[in-house]
Amino acid sequence: MTIFKAPVRDIDFVLNEVLDYQNHYKTISAGAEATPDMVEAITAEAAKFAEEVLAPLNKVGDEEGCTWNDSEVTTPTGFKEAYQMWVDGGWQGLSHPTEYGGQGLPMSLGLIKSELIGTANWSWGMYPGLSLGAMNTVYVHGTEEQKNQYMPKLCEGTWTGTMCLTEAHCGSDLGQMKSKAELNEDGSYRLTGSKIFISAGEHDLTENIIHIVLARTPGAPEGTKGISLFIVPKVNVNADGTLGERNNVKCGSIEHKMGIHGNSTCVINFDEATGYLLGKENEGLNAMFTFMNTARIGTAIQGLAASELAYQNALPYAMDRYSMRSLSGTKNPDKPGDAIIHHPDVRRMLLTAKAFAEGGRAMIYDAAKYSDHMVQADTQAERDAAENELGFLTPILKAFLTETGLESASNAMQVFGGHGYIKEHGMEQIYRDARISTLYEGTTGIQAMDLIGRKVVLDGFKLYGGFCKKLYKFGFKNLIGGKRRGYSAKLIGYTLAWNWHTVKMVARASKNRDAVGAASYDFLMYSGYLSMAYYWARMAEVAATKLASGEGDPAFYQAKLETAEFYFSRLLPRAKAHGGSMGSSTDSVMGMDLERFTVR
Ligand SMILES: Cc1cc2nc3c(=O)[nH]c(=O)nc-3n(C[C@H](O)[C@H](O)[C@H](O)COP(=O)(O)OP(=O)(O)OC[C@H]3O[C@@H](n4cnc5c(N)ncnc54)[C@H](O)[C@@H]3O)c2cc1C
Repeated sequence: MTIFKAPVRDIDFVLNEVLDYQNHYKTISAGAEATPDMVEAITAEAAKFAEEVLAPLNKVGDEEGCTWNDSEVTTPTGFKEAYQMWVDGGWQGLSHPTEYGGQGLPMSLGLIKSELIGTANWSWGMYPGLSLGAMNTVYVHGTEEQKNQYMPKLCEGTWTGTMCLTEAHCGSDLGQMKSKAELNEDGSYRLTGSKIFISAGEHDLTENIIHIVLARTPGAPEGTKGISLFIVPKVNVNADGTLGERNNVKCGSIEHKMGIHGNSTCVINFDEATGYLLGKENEGLNAMFTFMNTARIGTAIQGLAASELAYQNALPYAMDRYSMRSLSGTKNPDKPGDAIIHHPDVRRMLLTAKAFAEGGRAMIYDAAKYSDHMVQADTQAERDAAENELGFLTPILKAFLTETGLESASNAMQVFGGHGYIKEHGMEQIYRDARISTLYEGTTGIQAMDLIGRKVVLDGFKLYGGFCKKLYKFGFKNLIGGKRRGYSAKLIGYTLAWNWHTVKMVARASKNRDAVGAASYDFLMYSGYLSMAYYWARMAEVAATKLASGEGDPAFYQAKLETAEFYFSRLLPRAKAHGGSMGSSTDSVMGMDLERFTVR
């Protein structure tokens, strides 16, 4: 079984010492409640719940999985009881308005619970996690009546929500969607169609499930411009909020899959089910982006969680497994061999996971400030600006952190040697569970196209320019006055190179549009390594300052500096390879005729 210890000190370091969250909370209305004591108490309670309740269920969930019987789904042993504790603890509405029974705390504070829960037991965490997306979507796009009808129960956690986009013939290309929604005389709609791969689509944790569903109305325009969004409850809800009759929504089956066995992945069939338009007709995909962006940041956390859990479990094994002698001389003379942590290659794997986990945490928690502003800024202009900034970062966070999370999980398995491949230690579960993260919520390829196409080129390089400016500003400031000037120099150098590669790529794309697609993955990975370098440079500055002042635990800050050094020396240079690849000819990807792909 895997072990999990909530990285409370690391979270505190990022929030308070690097990202200055206390000052950030002064800039939003909900921030007044988020005092240091409150943040500490929430972290401690979430840590306890994650360590004591959810972590022990991680293996149970994997081994038992969910079971389907005539449209009902039973979750693994212990999931239901844990969920009831979650509801009793008032966790679901932590960051949602008090008028709907939430606690009105900042969105960013919700990330702490999401990280801790997700690392302890990703499958379980998906039930309340998907529900958060449904809550945000109803809150942003719902009418007052819809909010009053659905938000209190969703905030309470006694109902959960789902995201119903995918159909058998289309996941990335939602323009091909076929589910239809026909208007009833009373203003509601009849929804007919089949959605597949719906996470938490059916389960036994709550009395109702609110499906947020994309479908087409009759005569709607072709493609993504003709898609609308609907609320479709599993059990109809009366005007007074009480439960009515069962709706015509049924779970047709659940998937048997590689990982996340504790979370139900469902076929959901709508057979003239009653639904209600959410937002405007034919503007459903835009509205659904509220859900997808929540889910994408959630999936970025899955990447961080995989790195963290992989590292935490590989470390004690590396300390306690003895194999051959260290190259630089015997380290454990009383043992038949030295602990494998003395071998550079094992350290490389451990440090890679550690650097990705801690760097990823800083990236996500900083981006979360934008989500606070999106919800709580004073003016619409400020809210829009925050949404745009977060929109730029989202594909980087989602794709880069899940790719690196998967690498960490693979490395941590490798640290165990053959013992990583068998079930006993739980290392293969980390990998299997993490594997989905680069696929759902937009594959890495789709995120890469979104970043380079919509967020960079179509945006006219505004957000990209602003992002580069932030890196240059930090770099030049610390090149002169910083404690780790070498990192600042590297940050500036890599940003300059990124700009150069981008210009060249755009020039190539003016002659051949495939140049963008051919470069997109490398462009995204370069963006990821560069962003993480910015946060490692920031963390190193803080750690060096604290060490110089003699404040706090020197071993903690020293470890930060050493991990930063590893990141800048061993991981950041990978960006050069991505730059090189990005800069090479489009023909090297697109030149081969389809006929010549054939195996002979
Ligand atoms: C366990 C699990 C849980 C899920 N949960 C949900 C859920 O809760 N709700 C929901 O609606 N869906 C869910 N999904 C569906 C998931 O989001 C989709 O599977 C995913 O978006 C990919 O869609 P697809 O499978 O149709 O692949 P496709 O869209 O067919 O893509 C196949 C490949 O082609 C690539 N590709 C496609 N188009 C392009 C392009 N234009 N440029 C470059 N590359 C391209 C993709 O990157 C991918 O590599 C889940 C899936 C799984 C397996």
